[in-house]
Amino acid sequence: MTDLVSGSSAAARFDLRGRVAVVTGASKGIGRELVILLAETGAVVVPTARTDTDLAAIAAEARESGYTVHPRLLDVSDVGSINAAVEAITAQHGRIDVLVNNAGLGFARAAFDVSEDDWDEMMGVNLRGMFFMSQAVARTMVAAGKGGRIINISSQGGLVALPDAAVYCTSKGGVNMMTKTLAVEWAKHDITVNALAPTFIYTPGTAPILDEPAMKESVLAKIPLGKFALTNDVAGAIVYLASEAGRMVTGTVLVIDGGWTAQ
Ligand code: NAD
Repeated sequence: MTDLVSGSSAAARFDLRGRVAVVTGASKGIGRELVILLAETGAVVVPTARTDTDLAAIAAEARESGYTVHPRLLDVSDVGSINAAVEAITAQHGRIDVLVNNAGLGFARAAFDVSEDDWDEMMGVNLRGMFFMSQAVARTMVAAGKGGRIINISSQGGLVALPDAAVYCTSKGGVNMMTKTLAVEWAKHDITVNALAPTFIYTPGTAPILDEPAMKESVLAKIPLGKFALTNDVAGAIVYLASEAGRMVTGTVLVIDGGWTAQ
């Protein structure tokens, strides 16, 4: 990352053209929408997912929108898969500038009903997967010597309790602490590490749940701005944190919650 020269325009400060940006969990939901939103910025987008079918669908969707993206197979619960993907991406693109750790699991489970498998599965993706993905990518950032940006998709559930979500909220609280510790540890390499903590996001996947009248009413009652977040709100924060504009921001958890956690 080069330092800003005074007088550079606002547009230049937010410019991501040519930056190599890897997105985990791009097969559906927020990750899938982020692929197009980041491609629109001119970044070289590397969407990652667990199946060839998903990768083909992501590439086709991007093509239909007029963009070429560079999909890679990656299962964040498998460190061998992480290392293979990161090696292949750096071989193809020379470096990774931006990592968006988006892959996550979020099923609701009352605490008394949580099994060991439930715990291991959610922690395995949300925390363990995010940690080893960050470790592998940060190693390549250090080797490339140009710094880097790591952006972890956390949740408001890492800051306040959500119903029937003890494991999820614990994992996201862990994401927030991981963000701070890695930010401090890797600052000497000019790698920034930040987390985004959104409220409920309206996507094609969450629409059937969030459109259900009782759910809609109870969620919107807790959001002072009175609307759900959109993936676009997350994309805007990513552009800020990944660009020169965000060069002094590290170790922060940016809430995108319409005011939920301000009360
Ligand atoms: P989603 O279930 O629609 O998508 C999750 C993605 O992660 C999918 O592409 C899935 O295939 C992928 N994934 C799961 N396990 C994986 C693994 N082992 N390896 C690689 N990929 C894997 O969920 P979403 O709503 O799009 O959520 C994305 C992120 O945003 C998550 O971290 C979630 O906790 C967070 N988040 C979501 C909301 C929301 O309202 N949707 C709110 C706050 C935070």
